[in-house]
Amino acid sequence: PVTHYEQFFAEQAFNLDQLASTLLNEIAPPESEISFRRKLLQDLKRICQQLSPTAKLVPFGSLVTGFATASSDIDCVFFPGSEVTTEDEFTELPSLLEKKLQEEGFNAQLLTRTRVPIIKMVQKPTAENPQEIQCDIGFRNHLAIRNTHLLLSYSECDARVKQMVLVIKWWAKKRHINSPYRGTLSSYGYVLMILHYLINIVQPPVLPNLQLQRIPENTSDDEIYHKQGENIYNIWFSQDTESIQPSLNTSTLGELLRGFFDYYSYKFGWGQSVISIRTEGGLLSKQDKGWTAAKSRAANTVDGNETWEVKDRYLFALEDPFETSHNVGRTCNGPGTYGGVRRGIFFDDMVKLTGSIAGVARIRDEL
Ligand code: ATP
Ligand code: MG
Repeated sequence: PVTHYEQFFAEQAFNLDQLASTLLNEIAPPESEISFRRKLLQDLKRICQQLSPTAKLVPFGSLVTGFATASSDIDCVFFPGSEVTTEDEFTELPSLLEKKLQEEGFNAQLLTRTRVPIIKMVQKPTAENPQEIQCDIGFRNHLAIRNTHLLLSYSECDARVKQMVLVIKWWAKKRHINSPYRGTLSSYGYVLMILHYLINIVQPPVLPNLQLQRIPENTSDDEIYHKQGENIYNIWFSQDTESIQPSLNTSTLGELLRGFFDYYSYKFGWGQSVISIRTEGGLLSKQDKGWTAAKSRAANTVDGNETWEVKDRYLFALEDPFETSHNVGRTCNGPGTYGGVRRGIFFDDMVKLTGSIAGVARIRDEL
């Protein structure tokens, strides 16, 4: 017999499904915008090659995973060509490229106080493309490309991954909780939250754990390990998504979204747990990882004097699948976590988003 609860849950899922299917028609950016971004990327590549003729500019992030929405930025990495031989030459490249881009008329700014140097660029709206486009250029960042491919492989395993990501990204933007520079979580963080739910929580699972598949015998060490400075990272995952068995889970998108909100509202242990999608079960404890107290570290100010600033917070602990010492949730500050990403919003939206068709329509318009 169907209980009242079950009936209520089914209604919630049905309502969410309605919301999701209208949204999905609206939020995917038109093909013209994607091709405009690709063209911009080609122009940038040409400029990079003026500095180093065999340099490469490799895109990553949502342009590659297919998780792009209308407001998505372009993320790319600059890999210098063989002309750049010394570390000193490499160190100079970011500021040289910044100058070059400015000469070419781009609004470009090099940020050096970030974890890694990064050039932020803005392409003002043009007749051809009426939307402003943000572009980030990083330097020699292999792991970003690798995690992009991991996300892409998961997306290839099941069509519901991309649909769910687009809906959650839409929701997070509407709620203003998708701004890592303003105390909340990056899109990448939301994708990891979704993957954890789909790999480890929903039953039967929608996704296998690609990092825990058997490593084929002829795999070379380079495909398993990546060395960066002092650190060695295990970067292996199965890219052979063709041979992965389709999921036995037949849930609708609405049911999965309902389950996602339900999990993060009522079940996930925000205080003590670390989301770790590489790990069997998907969870570690903050205690075991030593991710408990906020750590401070010295930061150089412009005039060279050392100051201390809080670098690592563990209000929301979300382990990077390859750089396991890195907390992707680190960008979440107190207000962003408690008033935004964490329980308040999830609980609130769980009730509002799923309550009734009328509620869904209202949320769509008002959020
Ligand atoms: P959007 O469409 O909002 O730009 P996106 O899919 O491009 O979404 P981003 O958050 O821009 O996602 O992230 C792009 C890439 O940047 C990720 O694949 C990841 O490599 C890197 N990245 C983003 N945020 C973090 C973070 N907090 N820690 C580590 N890497 C991150
Ligand atoms: Mg991006």
